[in-house]
Amino acid sequence: MKYTEIMVRYGELSTKGKNRNVFITRLASNVKKALIDFPHVRVHAYRDRMHLILNGEDSDIIIPKLQKVFGIQNFSPSIRVEKDVEIIKAMAQEMMREVYTGKETFKITAKRSDHDFVQTSGELNLTLGNAIIDIFPDIKAQMKQPDINLRVEIRRDGAYLSHETIQGAGGLPVGTGGKGMLMLSGGIDSPVAGYFAMKRGVEIEAVHFASPPYTSEQALQKAKDLTAKLAPYVGSIQFIEVPFTEIQEEIKRCVPQGYWMTITRRMMLRLTDAIRELRKGLIILNGESLGQVASQTLQSMVAINEVSNTPIIRPVATMDKLEIIEVAQQIDTFELAIQPFEDCCTIFAPPQPKTRPRLDKVHHYEERLDIEGMMERALAGLKMDEITPESDQQADEFADFL
Ligand code: ATP
Ligand code: MG
Repeated sequence: MKYTEIMVRYGELSTKGKNRNVFITRLASNVKKALIDFPHVRVHAYRDRMHLILNGEDSDIIIPKLQKVFGIQNFSPSIRVEKDVEIIKAMAQEMMREVYTGKETFKITAKRSDHDFVQTSGELNLTLGNAIIDIFPDIKAQMKQPDINLRVEIRRDGAYLSHETIQGAGGLPVGTGGKGMLMLSGGIDSPVAGYFAMKRGVEIEAVHFASPPYTSEQALQKAKDLTAKLAPYVGSIQFIEVPFTEIQEEIKRCVPQGYWMTITRRMMLRLTDAIRELRKGLIILNGESLGQVASQTLQSMVAINEVSNTPIIRPVATMDKLEIIEVAQQIDTFELAIQPFEDCCTIFAPPQPKTRPRLDKVHHYEERLDIEGMMERALAGLKMDEITPESDQQADEFADFL
């Protein structure tokens, strides 16, 4: 069907009292960003809902993009016609012809905000119900949970008809919760952690540690590709590459094997915290999950966490691997994440990392390192890259290439 408008219903943000305007304004701007390739769409945000006027743009392409915008509970594509009973009847019949396959039950839900309209909602329900029965004499009306709910709204500027309600992504508009730095490796867990953070309104920037030539160009590209999978939820994500080679070589040279992992992680955290400050972020996010590997025992977390007072949120900390994988599949990061490019942690992984590192030893070994100097050099070599969603055109070109 050639829809002319999409009516968007807000999710949880409706309950936020005074902050409501902030939430609605942010949601409207996120919707505009998500639909940047559709310059004719007009976004009108009201207190209790949002109207997207399509102005000829294709709703089939717009709908999947809208499904990735957090803060939207659900939405209904609709068609606007003149406020004339005969014209409304004809459009209701046309819509039903399109969706009714001979089995479904139906209901008409009419509403009017324009009280000057010639029929009341009750009268309109009846008029349109009869119009449908005229063309499908065997169709069954059902008031509770009908298969097809044909909604008609009489507003000031026209009559709007819709027959479906599409589920949105839920959550809160990204950006209403401030900014966090996501430590993004090339693995399964950290992209899922980023997804959950965005879902609760947090804007993210991705911090990735790369140790060339030990880590490959493909490993870096994989981290960027994972970021591109998260970008549609926000429009674009800043990707920050941190040169980590010198630090890893130094740790390997100066520290006994058992403590490589703990001290490497402490360096990562120190650097992420410094980057957070530069970028004016509030918190740090990572993909740690309790007990998964040596660095993720409680004792390790305590030893690693000691270098920073910044709150660290671990969205997947208490999830099972299989639960994390399920989400990774839903957000389409799983296939990419399991590609076998070594990241910096795998390459320098000691055969037997300490699962219960001792802080006194950690401090003792760190005295052998020029921590400040190494951090300064790493921070001087940061590379920034703004990652946008893989555009449809790129996807097509790729398909041609195959
Ligand atoms: P993931 O699947 O996210 O890679 P993992 O199960 O492999 O996690 P680790 O490799 O121990 O676990 O990493 C734990 C967390 O540390 C990651 O989720 C990520 O947040 C951070 N991290 C690890 N390696 C890097 C890296 N190269 N760059 C940025 N962050 C990293
Ligand atoms: Mg990893």
